[in-house]
Amino acid sequence: MSLRTLESLGSLSGKRVIVRCDLNVPLQDGVITDDGRVRASLATLNALINQGARVIVVSHLGRPDGKPDAKHSLAPVAQRLSELLGKPVAFARDTVGVSAAEAVDALENGDVAVLENLRFNAGETSKDDAVRGAFAAELAALGDAMVSDGFGVVHRKQASVYDLAQLLPSAAGLLIAAELKVLDRLTETPERPYTVVLGGSKVSDKLGVIGHLLPRVDNLLIGGGMLFTFLAAQGHKVGSSLLEPDQIPQVLEYLKTAAELGVTIGIPTDVVVASKFGADADYMVTPAHAIEDTPYGASGIGLDIGPVTAAAFAEAIRGSNTVFWNGPMGVFELVPFAAGTRAVAEALTEVDGLSVVGGGDSAAAVRQLGFTDEQFGHISTGGGASLEFLEGKKLPGWEVRGWSSRVPRSSRVTGK
Ligand code: ADP
Ligand code: MG
Repeated sequence: MSLRTLESLGSLSGKRVIVRCDLNVPLQDGVITDDGRVRASLATLNALINQGARVIVVSHLGRPDGKPDAKHSLAPVAQRLSELLGKPVAFARDTVGVSAAEAVDALENGDVAVLENLRFNAGETSKDDAVRGAFAAELAALGDAMVSDGFGVVHRKQASVYDLAQLLPSAAGLLIAAELKVLDRLTETPERPYTVVLGGSKVSDKLGVIGHLLPRVDNLLIGGGMLFTFLAAQGHKVGSSLLEPDQIPQVLEYLKTAAELGVTIGIPTDVVVASKFGADADYMVTPAHAIEDTPYGASGIGLDIGPVTAAAFAEAIRGSNTVFWNGPMGVFELVPFAAGTRAVAEALTEVDGLSVVGGGDSAAAVRQLGFTDEQFGHISTGGGASLEFLEGKKLPGWEVRGWSSRVPRSSRVTGK
C-alpha cells in the first residue's frame, strides 16, 4: 500500500482543506462516552493548523436517515474537539448549506470549523453514483484540497470518502498512515501463533470475513452476537439470541474448511443467558447447548460468553504472538454481561508479541473497563475497515487514485 502523504499536497498555507475524519463517537444522552476517535484525529488536524491551513472537518455520526436528526448532531463533538485542540472551533449547522458556507468563509489561516453530520444528507451514502457525485461536488466547492483520515470509513464507497477524493487534490492523513503501518504487520509477516478474536453485533458483516481469515490464522475465537449462529450450526437452540439463520450453511462450510486447514475455531461452551435485554434482567450461566433449558425458556437471550469459555479464550490469546481482536464478547455496556469482554481484554494485555484491538465499540469497551491504550500494541479506530484490510479486500476508499494506490504484493518490500 503506498499512500499519498500530506506533503504531496505542497504548501497548504491559506488553503481550505477538507479533512474527512471519523468522529463517530459513542454518545449517551448527548454526552460523549469515549472520545478516542476525536483524540485520534488530532495529529492530522494539528499538522494542518501548524501549516496555516483553513481546516474544515467533516464526519458522520451514527446512522441518521439521510436527513437532519438532532440526536445525531456533531455539535458535542465540535465542542470536545475545541477542548482537545485548545482553541475555538466553529460549528456549522448544515453540511453544504448557508451555515457551512459562512463558517468556511469566516476561517482565517490556522482556524478550524466542523460541519454538521455528513449523513444528514442522503447523497453521502447513496448507492446511486450520480446522487453521491452531486453531493460530493457540493462538498468539493467548499475546499481546495481533501485529506482522507477517517479510518473507520475508509472501506466505504461514500461521497465524502470516495467521490470527494476524485474531485480535489487529495492525500491520506497521519491517522490512516499509522493504522496501515500496523495492519501491514498483521498481513505480511504475523508471528505465530496468530489468533483472531471476533465478536460484536454486526453479525453478517463479520461472518463474511471469516472465509478469508481462515487461511491466515491459527486460531479463530468466536464471541459476541455471531456465536449463536455457530451454536445453531452445531444444532443447538439459541432462544431469543441474535441469530442469522441464512448464514448457517456458510458457517458449516467454515467449520469444514477450518478442519481441513488445521485452524482451531473456538466456539463457546458456556454462555450467560438473560431473561430479557436490559440492566434489570435476571441472568444465569448455562452450557451453550442448553440455552432454552433455563427458567427463561425460548425467550432467554445470550448476552455474554460464559466463564469457562472466557478462561479458554484467555489462555489461547496469552499463548499467541500475534492477536487481532474486533467486537466485544458480550453486551459489555451492562455490568452483568461485561465479564467475557474484560477477560479477553485482560489476556490481550499479557500478549508478548503484537496485540491489536480494532473497532469503535471494542476500543470504547477496553477504555470503559479501565484499561489504558498503552496496555495494547495498537488500538485501531476502525473495526470493519481493519477486518476488510486483513482479508485482503480492495477497499473503495483506498482505491481512489487521488491518495492511494495498491502495490502488488510481490513487489512489496517487507520487514518491520
Ligand atoms: P465494533 O464497533 O467493535 O466493530 P460492533 O459494532 O460489531 O463492534 O458491536 C458492538 C456491540 O455488540 C456492542 O454494543 C455490544 O453490546 C454488542 N454485543 C456483543 N455481544 C452481543 C450479544 N450477544 N447480543 C447482542 N449484542 C451484543
Ligand atoms: Mg460498532
